Amino acid sequence: MPVINRVADLQPEIMAWRHDIHQHPELMYDVDRTAAFVAERLREFGCDEVVTGLGRTGVVGVIRGRKPAAGDLKVVGLRADMDALPIEEATDLPYASKVPGKMHACGHDGHTAMLLGAARYLAETRNFAGDVVVIFQPAEEGGAGAAAMIKDGLMDRFGIEQVYGMHNGPGIPVGAFAISPGPIMASTDSVDIRIEGVGGHAARPHMCIDSVLVGAQLITALQSIVSRTVDPLESAVVSICEFHAGNARNVIPQIAELKGTVRTLTPEVRDLVEKRVHEVAAGVAQSTGAKITVEYERGYPVVVNHAEQTEVAQRIARDIAGDTNVVSMPPLMGAEDFAYMLEARPGAFIFIGNGDSAGLHHPAYNFNDDAIVYGTSYWIKLVETQLAA
Ligand SMILES: [Zn+2]
Ligand SMILES: [Zn+2]
Repeated sequence: MPVINRVADLQPEIMAWRHDIHQHPELMYDVDRTAAFVAERLREFGCDEVVTGLGRTGVVGVIRGRKPAAGDLKVVGLRADMDALPIEEATDLPYASKVPGKMHACGHDGHTAMLLGAARYLAETRNFAGDVVVIFQPAEEGGAGAAAMIKDGLMDRFGIEQVYGMHNGPGIPVGAFAISPGPIMASTDSVDIRIEGVGGHAARPHMCIDSVLVGAQLITALQSIVSRTVDPLESAVVSICEFHAGNARNVIPQIAELKGTVRTLTPEVRDLVEKRVHEVAAGVAQSTGAKITVEYERGYPVVVNHAEQTEVAQRIARDIAGDTNVVSMPPLMGAEDFAYMLEARPGAFIFIGNGDSAGLHHPAYNFNDDAIVYGTSYWIKLVETQLAA
């Protein structure tokens, strides 16, 4: 069965919500306007409960089905993210961002609108047994908003037993979905390194410990972790992306600073790379005489799709899009804080085609309104299948 007819009728309204949110992008936890917009819609739809302020600015709506839960599964959570990015929008859309330096460049406006559309339909029809909990989180882009909502009791308070997420994917055709079981997005850790050498005259290097040369050696040595420590059949990324040192061509600087990111797909490889970063830095410090301090901070965990719920998601997506339009995908080394939700409850994260658009986080990116009917239909079908009345 293709998209739900009623959803096709609702499409213009869902699109209008999306454009409104797109014009008013907000960052991190400061999504007050968007959260108020979402809460107002959920109340209008007649949700049985609307809770705001969870995880600071997160919003939750509860919709009870026509009947009490028939099977073992009673409560399903569906999650969207509301935050935008600190990017200057470079589109000529009539509904382009009205806020200088901020834009919805990751399509969270589309995610929020599609889940609102599903909430509206589900509150209207209630053709399911049990509760559906629609979750709108802040601060996906680096603020761990999902973790903040969980810490505020999201899963226990509403009795959520399974949780599902969705992200748009540029390059995937509109009307298609991509998903695989197991690790699907990487953990992301940050590394800050400070090298203290001995500064001095560029013509008297023998009297100095050159922090620039030590930094260069360290960057090279760190690259051997992926090439020579991690199993070639596993995945890891070590990228040192900032190198700050010096401000004169004839002065050997005392201090150099490096910053980078580490991405992995399993807890074992994550532990291994972290350990090796410290060991390699200690080794370079010893061989050069520089003092090296490493601050290694763990960020989002790996997004791991649970096998059973991934099968469910695949089945629903095939129902909506047709068998050939649901593909499996290799893991991405990008990160997503939905990882925290999948650590808390079984569930699955699916990608929905955004067509031939600019990439995520690009100033010319835009969510594709033609994807709305597919995404919204997916949410509805998921609920009506998992909580069959
Ligand atoms: Zn993003
Ligand atoms: Zn995103």
